Amino acid sequence: MNYTIKQIAEITNAKVIGDKNLIIKNIAFDSRIIYSTRNTAFIAINTNKNSGEKFIDSVIDRGINIIISEHHYPQFENINWIIVKNSVEFLQKLAQYHFESSHLQSIGITGSNGKTILKEWLYQCLWNEFPTVKSPKSFNSQIGLPLSLLQINDSHKLGIFEVGISMPNEMEKLENIFHPKIGLLTHIGTAHLANFQSEEELILEKLKLFKDSDTLFFNGTEQVYNLVYKTYSPKYSKTTLISYGLDNVNNISIISDIRDRNQDIKIKYFHEEFSLKINQRDEVTLTNVLALIGILKNFEFSNEKIQYKIDQLRSVEMRLESIEGIKNNIVVNDSFNLDLDSLKTALQFLNEYQKSKKSLVLTDILGVNSNLKELYDEVSDLVNEQKFDSVFLIGNEISKFSELFKSKTYTFINTQELIDSKHLIEIENQIILLKGARKFEIERLKDILELRKHDTVLEINLNALLHNINYHKSLLKPTTKMMAMVKANSYGLGSFEISEFLQHHHIDYLGVAFVDEGVELRKKGITVPIVVMNPEQHSYETVIQYNLEPEIYSFRVLELFYEAVQKSGYDKKYPIHIKLETGMHRLGFKDHELDELSKKLNKINVKVKSIFSHLSSSDIPSENEFTSKQLNIFEKNSTYLIEKIGYFPIRHVLNSSGITNYTNHQYDMVRIGIGMLGESQYSEIKKQLQPVVSFKTVISQISLVENGESVGYSRRFKADKPTKIATIPVGYADGIPRLIGNEVGSVGINKNLAPIVGSICMDMMMININHIPNVKEGDIVTIFNAKPSLREFADYCKTITYEVLTSISPRVKRIYVKD
Ligand SMILES: *Cc1c(COP(=O)(O)O)cnc(C)c1O
Repeated sequence: MNYTIKQIAEITNAKVIGDKNLIIKNIAFDSRIIYSTRNTAFIAINTNKNSGEKFIDSVIDRGINIIISEHHYPQFENINWIIVKNSVEFLQKLAQYHFESSHLQSIGITGSNGKTILKEWLYQCLWNEFPTVKSPKSFNSQIGLPLSLLQINDSHKLGIFEVGISMPNEMEKLENIFHPKIGLLTHIGTAHLANFQSEEELILEKLKLFKDSDTLFFNGTEQVYNLVYKTYSPKYSKTTLISYGLDNVNNISIISDIRDRNQDIKIKYFHEEFSLKINQRDEVTLTNVLALIGILKNFEFSNEKIQYKIDQLRSVEMRLESIEGIKNNIVVNDSFNLDLDSLKTALQFLNEYQKSKKSLVLTDILGVNSNLKELYDEVSDLVNEQKFDSVFLIGNEISKFSELFKSKTYTFINTQELIDSKHLIEIENQIILLKGARKFEIERLKDILELRKHDTVLEINLNALLHNINYHKSLLKPTTKMMAMVKANSYGLGSFEISEFLQHHHIDYLGVAFVDEGVELRKKGITVPIVVMNPEQHSYETVIQYNLEPEIYSFRVLELFYEAVQKSGYDKKYPIHIKLETGMHRLGFKDHELDELSKKLNKINVKVKSIFSHLSSSDIPSENEFTSKQLNIFEKNSTYLIEKIGYFPIRHVLNSSGITNYTNHQYDMVRIGIGMLGESQYSEIKKQLQPVVSFKTVISQISLVENGESVGYSRRFKADKPTKIATIPVGYADGIPRLIGNEVGSVGINKNLAPIVGSICMDMMMININHIPNVKEGDIVTIFNAKPSLREFADYCKTITYEVLTSISPRVKRIYVKD
């Protein structure tokens, strides 16, 4: 979005206090996740549970100067206010206006199960053909839907949005804001049924979303099928109805035996029949695939293309997560929600595993008003069919019906009681299904049952990363763009995970070193512009195919790349980035080449998106004079080139330390790398940043070494007194250089430093913990984070932080935390 305060006030009938001409591009509603304060307004949302107004002072502290609120707080100075009658209605009204003026092709998804999976699948299949905007996560409520819609911008051609309701009469409000041209009604289950008089009422409420849809795809279970044709269709006769489902009466269905794995799946699409290869054969996945096929056919995809798209689907986070457990168990964790349908799905899922014995943890089913006896009769029938070895029931309600369950059955009031009973940790060689309502927090059982293969982890704190980005932004003009350098697997931390997070937080550009890195990001759904710093000669076709933007640093590259553009049939001006050599002597065009370069650029069909250079020593104060020279050359040569080509590309020259040390030379964009990970050479700046990376492990064993005894290979440590030694499971194969053994380096335990003793082994090393009280086996050891810091660790290794990070072996599991 992109509106002035004045426009917003007119659209929504709100009152303005302050500057009406300020522009708003983002509306933030959660004070903890504010990516950028520029053009951002904070909306204090009031619901009956919570008031966002209590966060107004903290967002003002963060630098926000536009507040949307139901009340005006005059004590804050220099703040621009949009005063609204009702914050939620304001959001809905603005979203409606924004959606209606966008002229976007749109898909609206509602139903009880499968909304998010289908939204993600559709997105993965369609974004390449149509620039697509979708609801983040499952933002589908009275507040989530408007926030999702406000993300639409001019570049989008298609919007895929989820819509969720839990009460009667909610859909009308949502339909008023969002009227999808293509409707998708997924499986209807019993979630929220308690709030409705009948299942029929619930279905009819959901169908209201599709009042103005041209086409409605719906999961044609018998009841929905009948209701759609009897009640919906006479009212909204201009909608084309298409049903899908495994049952043959549907327009899109399956006519082969899905259990026969020697046969491809044979699809019936109206009168057409065709085969697809699909590995996952459970009914839920296949039904979702049918919906996907319907919509892709609607976009006129050929059957070959549909097969291709299905092959490319990432196995979307299925709600059911299966993990390796202790004692050779498999743990299937579905502690997300619980109703009869999701229980059926989960039970069906169990049969996909080759384990003869199984156990079940099941909690009260909440929110059902009907007769409890009937409910648990049905539940116990389903469960008894599966012949569980043991069944653990948690909750007062379900416990009353324990005699209905035929397996060995135990009852508990709450999850803690089950943990304390120690029953679970005795189970061996079984599949254990955890199925519970969220309130019971049975995911805690997963932590107990999970086999911890990864004692050693590299933990990446995404909140800290965001903090660091925001800190650097705070030094810049609000209009300066930012490119995040995610080359070399994002400095070893995982380029997809970091890029996805940054994309969500509206980073302007991403930078990678090689084409493969860019391709990987595109394949996984990253749509932000990506610059490839070192496009190799054989990869130009791929650059174009995946919509990547090359750095052009020499005539050779320019000519070869342009040849590839022409061959590809690309008919618009291809975006490229011109690198100028200013003193680093790595890559780039030199002074004397600029004339010829501008002539070439003017002759061919490319668009110079940016002109840039790189500073060799922006982190070294004593090289200030040299850096100034580089900056002067950049200013002079980029200005010259711009004059010659006659338009203004983005200019950028600063890396992280450039941002802090040469802020005046920010031009239109900066390129952040190590700074977002919390590193700086300067202690005043370092203090403002948060460490992002934590390399951790746990103690495998503690031994007492007597006077004269030795530790490790070659006996390089010999105790001169009785010494407590701990062994930890990381070694040089994990990326710890062997040269920091023998008391050169230390690791952290409970805020103390423990020196590494003897030689570092391939997979282990030993540390001296003599001076540290209360250390036990299994305790956490920090290889670096705070103490020692990444920087101190790099000093042990006599290298720079960059090399430490990129040397950590891929076998170390990366985990990402954010709240
Ligand atoms: C890696 C890289 C950066 C980022 O450098 P940091 O020092 O990590 O901020 C910026 N620009 C270019 C061209 C790079 O290759």
